Amino acid sequence: MERLQKVLAHDGVASRRQSEKLIMSGRVRVNGTVVTELGTKVGVHDEILVDNVPVSTETPVYIMLYKPRGVISTANDDKGRQTVVDLLENVPQRVYPVGRLDYDTDGLLLLTNDGELANRLTHPKYEVEKTYIARVTGIPTNDTLRQLRQGMTIDGETYAPAKSKLLSVDDKKHTAIVQLVIHEGKNHQVKKMLSGVGYPVEKLKREQYGFLTLKGLNAGEARYLKPAEVQELK
Ligand code: URA
Repeated sequence: MERLQKVLAHDGVASRRQSEKLIMSGRVRVNGTVVTELGTKVGVHDEILVDNVPVSTETPVYIMLYKPRGVISTANDDKGRQTVVDLLENVPQRVYPVGRLDYDTDGLLLLTNDGELANRLTHPKYEVEKTYIARVTGIPTNDTLRQLRQGMTIDGETYAPAKSKLLSVDDKKHTAIVQLVIHEGKNHQVKKMLSGVGYPVEKLKREQYGFLTLKGLNAGEARYLKPAEVQELK
């Protein structure tokens, strides 16, 4: 554990003195909480934000994790649940998930300490396509799929058009498998869109993030991105 101002200075955010001022002026958050006390100790798994931007100038690392269900997509959990960072072995850098997957969603999650790239990737303007496979209750009609393709507003929240495809149906169980491709990353977006058109999600998986797929990974496994993959993401 290190003193917060030392970590900020070490990570190149500002000089030690300037870092102290940043802390005292309430611009630094640790694990979601504003910290104004100098000398607060932080460890490698603590999430530090300055003006809401993750801090880190360590060697940039880019990791793809096949997140299993039942793991939380934050660096820390105040309820002590297992986090996606806990699943990474031998990664000394402090990395953060790029966006989130729900606790009960599995699939492809990127983690990095490159705050700039993370911010860019999560900005809807960059339109990174995320492909989800959902099992829903009921069998969506063509009309429903069209609705999803047109975008929608639910409870005042607008969702951009999503590419949607019916992959299979199980008449006996009255369920269907739907593929949805979205480029936004709003809270519970896929679940909200599908239940918004009348088909609640029973199970959800993110299969693809941009051009990246889970090929070669089992649930709980991770790998570093190849330099060419990082280049393509940038
Ligand atoms: N949409 C959701 O509803 N949940 C996720 O985890 C990801 C996208």
